[in-house]
Amino acid sequence: MMKELVLLKLGGSSITKKADNKFEMNEEVLNNSAKEIAQALKEKEFNLILICGVGPFGHTNVKKYDLNNGIKTKNQEKGVEKTIQDCDFVADKVIEALEKQKLKTRHLPGYWVCKHDNKKVIVYEIEDYEKALQRGEIPITTGTMVKDKTLKWSVMSGDTSIAQITKQMKPQKIILGTDVDGIYTADPKIEKNAKLIKEINKENLEEVIKMADKSKAIDVTGGMKGKLEKLAEQLNGNEAQIFNLLIPGNLKKALLGKELNSTKIKL
Ligand code: ADP
Repeated sequence: MMKELVLLKLGGSSITKKADNKFEMNEEVLNNSAKEIAQALKEKEFNLILICGVGPFGHTNVKKYDLNNGIKTKNQEKGVEKTIQDCDFVADKVIEALEKQKLKTRHLPGYWVCKHDNKKVIVYEIEDYEKALQRGEIPITTGTMVKDKTLKWSVMSGDTSIAQITKQMKPQKIILGTDVDGIYTADPKIEKNAKLIKEINKENLEEVIKMADKSKAIDVTGGMKGKLEKLAEQLNGNEAQIFNLLIPGNLKKALLGKELNSTKIKL
């Protein structure tokens, strides 16, 4: 019998100081996450792939050097190099935390496995993930810069990895850790009355979007409608669960399939 494959995202908002826009890891959340992964793996056998958001380690550089519209100057090339180093730093930190828990890891940088053309994936190789899992390692990929046929380099987000691995490896479980309990009727950091939506499925999707539209908080990325559309595209019909990684105990529960406050997505 094949072991269950779990795809876990550690969101940039939870493992880095994304909200403060600092080039800093949230060591507490990271170390606690590593501990809970180790505990869950003791209770149950499963294969795990880890995708990490990089928060400010990515987007601060991308903005500063203008790295997502074609690389044309020496300065931009320097920026690409710096961004890759910064994103690799996040991977190193995650690996360090996991190794403290005696877990075996394998860094699979985005620029090894993924190639873009005009910001779109043309190659995403999963062979190395399969090999790592066979060796009993936890593969780790972060958002980073990848080669781009037209633009030279462009940004690959952690969400791209989620989408590609979901499509190609069909994980039995997809769990997305972030810094709020799930998807709300509006951004819970702005609207105090926002309500957590426990489940989003085909039946209530329209209603959920309508609710969100009524709220005052509409963010630049298209608010919740945009968020959900992107998520649905990534998940491609697979179920997923969004949960709060800042609350100790949540990750272990999610990994073991126990009940917790969260949003289940069944689109
Ligand atoms: P991550 O970095 O963990 O991938 P994001 O920063 O992309 O996560 O998204 C999480 C953030 O989205 C939350 O911190 C929250 O403030 C914001 N947000 C905006 N609208 C919503 C909503 N309707 N429900 C939940 N979170 C929302």
